[in-house]
Amino acid sequence: MNFSDNELKQLIESNEYEQELFTKADNVRRAHYGTDVYIRGLIEISNYCRNDCYYCGIRKGNQHVERYRLNKDEILSCCKEGYRLGFRTFVLQGGEDATFSDAWICDTVSEIKRLHPDCAVTLSLGEKSYDSYKAYYDAGADRYLLRHETANAEHYHLLHPNSMSLENRKNCLWDLKKIGYEVGSGFMVGSPHQTTENLIEDLRFLQELQPDMIGIGPYISHQNTPFRDYKNGDLHQCLRLIAILRLMFPYALIPATTALGTIDSEGRELGLKAGANVVMPNLSPVKVRKQYELYDHKICTNEEAAECRMCLENRVAAAGYHIVTHIGNAKNKM
Ligand code: SAH
Repeated sequence: MNFSDNELKQLIESNEYEQELFTKADNVRRAHYGTDVYIRGLIEISNYCRNDCYYCGIRKGNQHVERYRLNKDEILSCCKEGYRLGFRTFVLQGGEDATFSDAWICDTVSEIKRLHPDCAVTLSLGEKSYDSYKAYYDAGADRYLLRHETANAEHYHLLHPNSMSLENRKNCLWDLKKIGYEVGSGFMVGSPHQTTENLIEDLRFLQELQPDMIGIGPYISHQNTPFRDYKNGDLHQCLRLIAILRLMFPYALIPATTALGTIDSEGRELGLKAGANVVMPNLSPVKVRKQYELYDHKICTNEEAAECRMCLENRVAAAGYHIVTHIGNAKNKM
């Protein structure tokens, strides 16, 4: 479905037609995916980061974080436990930790693929060179998540220090596509200084990029960042954007994110009802979960992987959908 800028502006800003919008989006998701919800096991491999994004709790400048990185054996044992629980996709996410060499990343990816050949490996490790992305792909990585964060260059500079640029972020996304990854992008809803026009630009950029996966979630402030005093993104605006995404990108894999579950205890269920079709329970070792705190009060930091898996099974079922344990590729190119 295509929307004009004016239609988008209305749908983004006003809750007047929101129920109708959610119903339409849910119909489209059911037409393509039925009631299936795909699960991805998220393994937060390091909270070291060379970047200083103003919104992020694990930014380099935050002196209050106790830093950690998982070793290969720890990552492999998360995958083993995840496999037992029915996960067939593992997402390795982390800050931009320079200690992880390309050789180490390749080795870890190929080891996961060797032990679990029926699984997909998704990486979410930030901005790298074409050659690095290519090496990970050749080692067996299938998918890459890199949110563009905002498609407006001025807004991008209000969220990031000058060492980072939207141009580079976009180039990374195009490189990933060229190499052959299934690519995920996305943005925060309600990030500081964001306007409706910025959100429309985000949607237009996604139309250009045609990603397989689109992750969005509300901005949530973190006490030890320069943005500590900005208010959190709005739950309902985020839900409306999920619905808009489902209508614009019927085949996309759209997660009901942890951030959505953090601003509202029913946020993920509402996300599913608004068109989302993926959930990403945490598979990280419990001992490090609190340290991967991108924003305050992040949920699911005390539970074991099995508890998260069960909890989500129940939540997804209560919302009227069901978790499937196969690899969960996008049904079709958009
Ligand atoms: N280093 C990787 C992973 C970043 S963390 C990368 O650069 O892609 C994953 C996502 O969390 C980010 O892309 C960002 O959109 C989101 N995030 C970070 N801080 C946040 C906050 N305070 N509130 C909500 N989402 C946040």
